[in-house]
Amino acid sequence: MVIEKGKPLSKVKISGGGRCNVTNGHCADKMILAEHYPRGNKEFRGSFFSMHGPWDTISWFSDHGVELKTEDDGRVFPVSDSSSSVIDCLLFELKIIGVLLQTGKSVTNVSTTVGGKYIIKIEKRTSDPIEYVEADYLLIASGSSRQWIFLWSQGYTLATQLGHSIVDPVPSLFTFKIEDAQLAELAGVTFPKVKAKLKLENVQRQIPQLTQVGPMLITHWGLSGPVILRLSAWGARDLFSSAYEGILFVDFIPDLHLENAKSILFQHKDQFAKQKALNSFPPDFGLVKRFWKYILEREHISGDILWASVSNNSIISVVSLLKQCSFGVKGKGQFKDEFVTAGGIPLSEISLNTMESRKQPNLFFAGEVLNVDGVTGGFNFQNAWSGGYIAGTTIGKLALDSSSEMEAV
Ligand SMILES: Cc1cc2nc3c(=O)[nH]c(=O)nc-3n(C[C@H](O)[C@H](O)[C@H](O)COP(=O)(O)OP(=O)(O)OC[C@H]3O[C@@H](n4cnc5c(N)ncnc54)[C@H](O)[C@@H]3O)c2cc1C
Repeated sequence: MVIEKGKPLSKVKISGGGRCNVTNGHCADKMILAEHYPRGNKEFRGSFFSMHGPWDTISWFSDHGVELKTEDDGRVFPVSDSSSSVIDCLLFELKIIGVLLQTGKSVTNVSTTVGGKYIIKIEKRTSDPIEYVEADYLLIASGSSRQWIFLWSQGYTLATQLGHSIVDPVPSLFTFKIEDAQLAELAGVTFPKVKAKLKLENVQRQIPQLTQVGPMLITHWGLSGPVILRLSAWGARDLFSSAYEGILFVDFIPDLHLENAKSILFQHKDQFAKQKALNSFPPDFGLVKRFWKYILEREHISGDILWASVSNNSIISVVSLLKQCSFGVKGKGQFKDEFVTAGGIPLSEISLNTMESRKQPNLFFAGEVLNVDGVTGGFNFQNAWSGGYIAGTTIGKLALDSSSEMEAV
């Protein structure tokens, strides 16, 4: 029996901008795959993904009639580009195998009997009678709460009732708010490759993952794109304790060494001496004119000045700024395509081989209710599919074993 307080698979519906980024097809190696989980990376180096990984997810869906495609960056989507294909498939499968789906009902309490069974309290509306269901096995896959600061996810409360602890939930996967009016004017400008390093005042230890390389995007309120989202995920806890304030250093020309970049700009100055600084800049920098203007303005160089009149010091400072441009992070924005919670039930309190609780027999957890979260790219669903699959098959096996034991008796 599945008890769902809202509509089934409602997060799948809105996921990936309505397309559902089912998994990631570029991580065949489980060690590389594990690196995509700021919470879970050490534990996932074990057998978790060997039992059910991205390739199993891809073949499961294609065996069940959902054709998938892998995009250049590894993200896997249904060929239909619609999350409904995934939902329809899962609900159909549920029906076929005879799972009873109870929607619009919340599990509000769980207790155990002397015989080790679970008594599950189910509530609909306050006016409706309360129901109780007895179960041999219980899987809590209640996700995380979006109102994390005001309200714990009900799953956390149930888990604590059953003896588990909770790592405090904090948001992950968000954009950075930067207060810079000139930058905001560049909203929509993208960079295919930058190297960005996040520095937080109250964090002295070295965190290699707080330096990321990849695409970045300027938005109306600051910075976004894969590099920023990855930094937000790896820095989720430290950013929370820093009240989302810090300094971001961005290298806009990461493939050029500082000295190389300087000589390119010096050559450019000589070659285009009679042109205006705004109108001509080295193509090797791979920048758009609007952003070049921003850089010149930050260095107080008039765009109308001829290259011949640009001082050597100005050349050096422009290149230094391109190699290490600092932005004050003044808060977190929202990333509407994906949002996850760092925190939840510690992985040390469950066995990843079965997803069974180490505190209570026949109690299982899967998905985001656990202290696991991944970066964007299909990794969060993969955690949910893998955990759900492992828990489900374990419960099935235990139920079969116990019914054959009963028959033998
Ligand atoms: C906008 C958005 C887009 C996303 N896009 C992607 C993406 O494209 N790819 C990706 O990998 N990840 C994506 N994610 C993250 C991904 O959706 C989650 O990591 C994933 O859904 C977690 O699965 P889950 O089963 O653990 O929890 P959920 O999907 O949250 O499901 C938990 C369910 O439990 C129900 N529930 C909770 N408490 C109770 C209770 N007490 N009684 C009964 N029912 C209860 C809830 O109603 C909910 O339906 C996205 C997240 C968001 C918010």
